[in-house]
Amino acid sequence: MAGRVNSYFRRGDYTLLHLLAHPRVLANYALYHRQLRQKRTRITAHPTDLDFEITNACNQDCVQCYRHVVKPYNPSVLSPENFERILRKFPHITNLSLNGFGEPLLNRDIIRLIRLAKRGRPYLRVFFHTNGEFLTPELSRELVESGLTRI
Ligand code: SF4
Repeated sequence: MAGRVNSYFRRGDYTLLHLLAHPRVLANYALYHRQLRQKRTRITAHPTDLDFEITNACNQDCVQCYRHVVKPYNPSVLSPENFERILRKFPHITNLSLNGFGEPLLNRDIIRLIRLAKRGRPYLRVFFHTNGEFLTPELSRELVESGLTRI
């Protein structure tokens, strides 16, 4: 377990207090990675990583994008209510991606979503990638203050 805890800290910038204050999350994280190392066909640990597609809309049409293959679907955004409802089903996650096949900053609730995710989970890594076109100094500051781990 000590090895798993060390690896958690190597991958993030979290304090020991954050993790020790949530022993069930820590124990599940250790169990999940132990079972992965053992190459088990059946994992009994709860999921530790979650990918949310908070929107499938994008303002670009990059030639290399997988969107050309998957051919979405009507553009839509995930509401804070649904985000919170789904998040409640995954109380052991330590990593949360806000990416799918869209540009996350097109979800105007993104700051609220990050705050919802971080509420009561200071150890949670929240991240996404973006084409950056909607980033302004104000939004950048809000993202930092919301608790976003990396972009
Ligand atoms: S999702 Fe990313 S890669 Fe795809 S079109 Fe939008 S900006 Fe380009």
